[in-house]
Amino acid sequence: MKWDEFSDWGKKIADWTQDYHLSVGKKPVRARTEPGDVLNALPAHPPEQGEAIEDIFRDFEQIVMPGITHWQHPRFFAYFNSNASAPSVLAEFLASAIAPQCMLWQTSPAATEMETRMMDWLRTALDLPDGFAGVIQDSASSATLAAVLTMREKAMNWQGNSQGLFSHKPLRIYCSSEVHTSIDRAIWVAGIGQDNLIRIPVQGDWRGMNPESLEAAIQVDLDSGYQPTGVILCVGGTGTGATDPVDRCLEIARKYGLYTHVDAAWAGSAMICPEYRHYWPGIDQADSIVFNPHKWLGVQFDCCAHFLKDPDDLVRTLAISPEYLKTHGKDGIINYSEWSVPLGRRFRALKLWFVIRTYGLEGLRQRLRNHVNWSVALHDRLAAEPDFRIVTPPMWSLWTFRYEPDGAVDLDDLNLRLVNAINDDGRIYLTQTRVDGDLVIRFQAGQFETTEQDVMMAYDVITEIARGI
Ligand SMILES: *Cc1c(COP(=O)(O)O)cnc(C)c1O
Repeated sequence: MKWDEFSDWGKKIADWTQDYHLSVGKKPVRARTEPGDVLNALPAHPPEQGEAIEDIFRDFEQIVMPGITHWQHPRFFAYFNSNASAPSVLAEFLASAIAPQCMLWQTSPAATEMETRMMDWLRTALDLPDGFAGVIQDSASSATLAAVLTMREKAMNWQGNSQGLFSHKPLRIYCSSEVHTSIDRAIWVAGIGQDNLIRIPVQGDWRGMNPESLEAAIQVDLDSGYQPTGVILCVGGTGTGATDPVDRCLEIARKYGLYTHVDAAWAGSAMICPEYRHYWPGIDQADSIVFNPHKWLGVQFDCCAHFLKDPDDLVRTLAISPEYLKTHGKDGIINYSEWSVPLGRRFRALKLWFVIRTYGLEGLRQRLRNHVNWSVALHDRLAAEPDFRIVTPPMWSLWTFRYEPDGAVDLDDLNLRLVNAINDDGRIYLTQTRVDGDLVIRFQAGQFETTEQDVMMAYDVITEIARGI
């Protein structure tokens, strides 16, 4: 393909994109393909000769699209949304057009400096204090890994990277039983070992870790010759929105000199609204905080905001700086690849700039507030239905329920059949989780274009399908 043929196809794809987003609400949310359908439709061998874009695009529509679950569907209430607002799609188009590799300041000064400014905009939007500096990571998993490596290096007096962990006493990291699996993987990858990730039991409606149990666990470890190293807090956990008592846990961590990382991958976006900040009191005492603008803020995947009270600890942990990477002659510049595990970096700040400017913080806040209010209204309606039990209350726009009609026996099986039937129906998409061993159904609203009617349709679908099974 020659570049002078590009604009023709670029326009076609822009038209296709607009039509897709305007009509996606009419499609079933979850893909209806069977395993192997797409694999079998793709030739086993690559073509020897080039093919026409017309043919490739036709196959894209015929083979790929039927196998897509529509994450941008207004009634996608499963998992957490991964929103791609229109300005973020445009910004990604431009970023892919110029395709810079932004590992160092000099490999694209604009990308680096815009990243600095955008992270400062986000810091201000979340009302985090001046001292915090930010970096855009590819995912919350990567940010958590970087934070765990930093905890490890600090606790080992910066010897872990050179000597490994072999002769060191076990490092201990504490978190609640509700944290995301990315925490476990970071612990594995950092060489700390699952056995040294200590789960603190949760309590109360917020399902947050019990601070007394946290302190007791640290004490036991100190007495037993382990080395307490860090605490990972959860604000808006994936299953039920579990949220630790941030101020009390951070206070205990500080008392014992432990590094702290707060995983607010989903709920962090909501902190642009002052009225939700009571969910993380004392957050300014954390060492590291992560949230994903690629979830609730409309900045499409991937874009993860990682804030650090002292970025030097992170850079000391991750920077290698061989000679060929040195940016000579420019003092005071930032090479963000020293702040993350991957070296190569996409130009992710551009879509933040487009999205924040297009909607303004007030436009973004309004969307988030709507999602929370509509979700709570739906919760109230389902709570009033005799055969349904609310299992966990709304945390922002996330809550869980269970269908428990009189006389039903195997409730886990019944609820699994219900969620499957709802998803086969196609009008909405929900996922399930477990709470204290019980299978429950999650509801979460956060799609950028969802409306009150979309959210209320979930009531009709859930109650209608429950009656039918
Ligand atoms: C989504 C999520 C993650 C993982 O985010 P990635 O960016 O996909 O790595 C981690 N923690 C929580 C609480 C999440 O909701």
